[in-house]
Amino acid sequence: MLFGSTQSLEGGVVLGKIVGFIEFKERIRRSLENILSSEVVERAKRDSHSFRSPRPCGMTIHTGIGCSNMCVYCYIYDMGFPKTVELYPLPVEGLVYALSINPYIVPTKTLAAYGSVTEPFNSVTRDFSLKLIEYVYRYLKLPTQISTKSILDEKIVYSLANADSRCSILVTVTSIDYAKILEPRAPSPIERIIYAGYASKHLHTSIFIRPIIPGVTDSEIDKIFKLLAEYSIKNIVIGSLRVSKNILIKLKQASPSIYNEVLYRLPREPIKKQQIAIYDKDIKEKIARKAREYQLKLYTSACQANIDAHKEFCNMCLKGPCGDIGRWETAEEADIAEFLEYIKVRYSRITVSRDAVYIELKDKISKDKIEYIEKFLKQSLKTIVRVKSR
Ligand code: SF4
Ligand code: SF4
Repeated sequence: MLFGSTQSLEGGVVLGKIVGFIEFKERIRRSLENILSSEVVERAKRDSHSFRSPRPCGMTIHTGIGCSNMCVYCYIYDMGFPKTVELYPLPVEGLVYALSINPYIVPTKTLAAYGSVTEPFNSVTRDFSLKLIEYVYRYLKLPTQISTKSILDEKIVYSLANADSRCSILVTVTSIDYAKILEPRAPSPIERIIYAGYASKHLHTSIFIRPIIPGVTDSEIDKIFKLLAEYSIKNIVIGSLRVSKNILIKLKQASPSIYNEVLYRLPREPIKKQQIAIYDKDIKEKIARKAREYQLKLYTSACQANIDAHKEFCNMCLKGPCGDIGRWETAEEADIAEFLEYIKVRYSRITVSRDAVYIELKDKISKDKIEYIEKFLKQSLKTIVRVKSR
């Protein structure tokens, strides 16, 4: 058993599950330090994977730098990423090492999200991405989720199934008729759907309808859903369009009619690189109605699909509970107490309810330490955690 309520370590010490996670990461760190050069270890320590906090969708893991697909609605160019693709500047084992020293990551619990700032299966990074996905799962068992616009051929599906047999795949489709305008360099959406159908025979596969393009995605929704039915795809994930100043300029050049619809739904103009989500509640409701007609399972966020794919449970935000309700475990007060003692933080009270954990501390501690306790416990227990210091 990797993690249960208790875990035996060398020397016969029995630890609770939260401290067990920390000890497990320590062993991974030590074993990787034995095989990596000191130069790679130093670079990994400076790499953002070693200190970034997981986002709501999980820990975004970068398989490369930049993307050449140049989708009109893409935000990565505003973040400073180039329009070319390069391999990530750390070896796979170095990247796993960086994750193993990230204080917020909890083995088996923190979701791993690939494909947030690049296309993971473009020709430059494909092999690197497949190896990285395999190694992150092998060492840290972070539940895998990949978002992609690539054709999921046999090799990719086979490798993913071998790396993490419960991996969640999100294949992006926002439009069929406007794809050439919106995603000029990506494979055709019909082909993406055909291959997503193949992937769904082996892995938990969803069509990622994000970003919803107003006036486009909604008017094509029947056409898209008919294709999903034809290729036996059962899940969709929906998400809103967020626009920056630059994205608005590109949309205007690409299609004045889409631009006007987006402008109409924009609550305020974005300043500089700010990203503002457009109003699309009505469109989401329409998609949800249609999804029911086509008997599709609809997720309103990517993490829900990942949790479901791995048959896990999560209640760490107000959208929850999500996933397998049978796996809902109330946190153990003794585990939390042991964790606080382990990190040398004194507490006066721990209150555990079905939906949240509240901790009152005896002493005044730094904001960083409070943040660490909240984030680490939230990931470990998959519940809302609040810490109050004096
Ligand atoms: S494929 Fe993804 S990362 Fe690449 S340009 Fe399109 S939206 Fe951006
Ligand atoms: S409760 Fe649901 S929506 Fe919230 S983080 Fe967990 S899986 Fe995601």
